[in-house]
Amino acid sequence: MTVLVRPKALGDHKVRTFQMLIDGKWVDSADGRTIERVSPGHGVVVSRYQAAASVDAERAIAAARRAFDDGPWPRMTASERSLILLKAADLIAARADELAFLDAIESGKPISQAKGELGGAADIWRYAAALARDLHGESYNTLGDGTLGVVLREAIGVVSIITPWNFPFLIVSQKLPFALAAGCTTVVKPSELTSASTLVLGEILEAAGVPAGVVNIITGTGPEVGAPMTTHPDVDMISFTGSTGVGRLTMANAAQTLKKVSLELGGKNPQIVFPDANIDEFIDAAVFGAYFNAGECCNAGSRLIVHRDIAEEVTARIAALSAKVKVGDPLDPETQVGAIITPQHLEKIAGYVSAASKDGAAVAHGGEALDLGMGQFMAPTILSSVRPDMAVAREEVFGPVLSVLTFETTDEAIRIANSIDYGLSAGVWSRDFDTCLTIGRRVRAGTVWMNTFMDGASELPFGGYRQSGLGRELGRHAVEDYTETKTLNMHIGARTGWWMPR
Ligand code: NAD
Repeated sequence: MTVLVRPKALGDHKVRTFQMLIDGKWVDSADGRTIERVSPGHGVVVSRYQAAASVDAERAIAAARRAFDDGPWPRMTASERSLILLKAADLIAARADELAFLDAIESGKPISQAKGELGGAADIWRYAAALARDLHGESYNTLGDGTLGVVLREAIGVVSIITPWNFPFLIVSQKLPFALAAGCTTVVKPSELTSASTLVLGEILEAAGVPAGVVNIITGTGPEVGAPMTTHPDVDMISFTGSTGVGRLTMANAAQTLKKVSLELGGKNPQIVFPDANIDEFIDAAVFGAYFNAGECCNAGSRLIVHRDIAEEVTARIAALSAKVKVGDPLDPETQVGAIITPQHLEKIAGYVSAASKDGAAVAHGGEALDLGMGQFMAPTILSSVRPDMAVAREEVFGPVLSVLTFETTDEAIRIANSIDYGLSAGVWSRDFDTCLTIGRRVRAGTVWMNTFMDGASELPFGGYRQSGLGRELGRHAVEDYTETKTLNMHIGARTGWWMPR
């Protein structure tokens, strides 16, 4: 039996109403429409945002354009921008409890986890502040007496930043501070399901000293507000995190005006485990990898590829540990798995499980939605006897559902791991150095964890191969991503040429 943590009613929680930030002013949407957000764990309205339309997006883009073309931001010294980013990091840390609460009640994630994400986000803002001061180009003093070449890194311009609902504050923090460090101006659109913490970030950035128009934050649906942010000719770059389907659409839209795109998309990440692994540690990481953020995680380790000799033992032990996972009230500090983002998404997850069962998979634990009296929840679920061709083994379920597949040889494990369209991350478990490195080099994924899973650091680049995305976030090149390269080719002394005397 899964341990249940029944949600407490939010009681006297007041619905918080937000405006949007355009050109340094907090404003309503042009036509006055609003969106209400219901807490997935409590079933009551917790936030109300502006439902922007394309006219609002155009105003925000115009403000960002002016702030880039005329404003002080791109012309400030890196040291000045860096100080503002550091101030923002301090203010994020100071308001971390409020931001974590907003993410928990809007996304359904456990409050303890949300607080952890806020700590990680503040660290990223500090890291971006450090990188800001190291952004530099190159010089070539080796091109002969008559030439000096200088390669400049310039801010790319206006950046549209579009983010999903599963890590609302963390993901905007993987993009915005680096764009700002480079000197870009931005229009930010959080998910219409989880906009609150990004709007509070707007207040923080104002207080930190970011000038008007540099960060504009608009709220609304993807088709109404996100789409114009991907087509408008005044936007120079799009940084998008979300589903592979919308990522594809974003790239097609960007192609019309040849904007640069950075895409962080879906994943269906394998963990490959060999019989010589530390099985105790693996079992813990398998449960964590599958159920962290209720499996609503691009990095979820949702495919276990287990050596046949240990498959039965591993499945039984994961099923036993799954039963101990505490599912329920996102605001309870003990909760490990919170609520599912929407009732429609819960139906989709349950649909994958029933289709897999019909197809021959066996439910080793869980398998159904949980009725906790309010909100929507899914039991941690482990499916065995899953074949590589089943939808549950190839598609992103985005719920707490773990599929167990088996292999006999290293080549077979690699073939199964690489047999799908995604390539975001992977894990390998073995005490053998050669096994780990062979998997590490041959699995086509942006990150491969060895004897651990889902660890991260601001210094380490993150992103996907194949249909998991394009480009990398974090790491020391993260600021460069938001720049253009310009060559200054300078001539020294008398120039000889076509019509000049030699
Ligand atoms: P989504 O693609 O539905 O939405 C993401 C964002 O795009 C939202 O802000 C949405 O409003 C906007 N959007 C929707 N339609 C649009 C359109 N036509 N034009 C422009 N913008 C549009 O994704 P989601 O359901 O919010 O998030 C879950 C997905 O995000 C999963 O696939 C997950 O794997 C992926 N994700 C990837 C990473 C990563 O780093 N690779 C991280 C987190 C989430």
